[in-house]
Amino acid sequence: MTHTNTPRKYVIANWKMHGDLAHNQALLDRYVSQLSDLKGTQVVVCVPYPYLAQAQAKLQGTGIAWGAQNLAKNEDGPFTGEVSAQMLCDFGSQYVILGHSERATAYCESDENIAQKFMVAKKHGITPILCVGETLIEREAGVMELKVGKQLDAIIDLYGVEVFQNTIVSYEPIWAIGTGLAATPDQAKAMHLFIKGKLMQVNATHENSVKILYGGSVNPQNALQLFMVEHIDGGLVGKCSLNAQEFEGICQAAESCQE
Ligand code: PEP
Repeated sequence: MTHTNTPRKYVIANWKMHGDLAHNQALLDRYVSQLSDLKGTQVVVCVPYPYLAQAQAKLQGTGIAWGAQNLAKNEDGPFTGEVSAQMLCDFGSQYVILGHSERATAYCESDENIAQKFMVAKKHGITPILCVGETLIEREAGVMELKVGKQLDAIIDLYGVEVFQNTIVSYEPIWAIGTGLAATPDQAKAMHLFIKGKLMQVNATHENSVKILYGGSVNPQNALQLFMVEHIDGGLVGKCSLNAQEFEGICQAAESCQE
């Protein structure tokens, strides 16, 4: 998928390992009734694998897109428990979250593994949502740009900076995820500028086709302030995406700060 006629903002729900058929049904019904008609905001829901069919059935034709939270770096074969890009495509997934720190930490995903998955997603026409971000210790040591730069370089070194065209990068400071302690607009702005600077090495078209989101304790109270910041193209939302009212508040914030 490309970002031609690209929406100005993205709000992406990361349901993580939450939900069941009945709860999802109710939540998706609310998403559809409240969020289908947004003009400048693309809403995306990244669900656990078993619910991709449910997301497809509920969201097809609504303007709300769906996707997954991981994919296999291999195309197919004897990889027990893995799910391939083609399988995601079979269920209409247009997006996939890659490199989320919860996975990187719990399943020892290396930057190189994530880079391979990034390319596999692109090859299959799935927009990767690449998560990057530093720990609190790294921030306190002042090496946050080094850390994020290294995560981006893992992809740039293997495939060149051009592969970031029509992709999404989400700056997710690890200390802000699920903690209720979001980055300040100034902290987010500085990192977004850094990321943009690194990825803008090609040309202006390229710059416009990479969306850079912020993720980490976004809620209806702080969303507008964060989304108004130049270079923040929307948010990746965990906890608040499980509550229809809170998620709507965040999407409305994205919608209301369009130029
Ligand atoms: C996330 O897990 O990507 C995330 C941003 O979570 P939360 O919104 O709960 O901090």
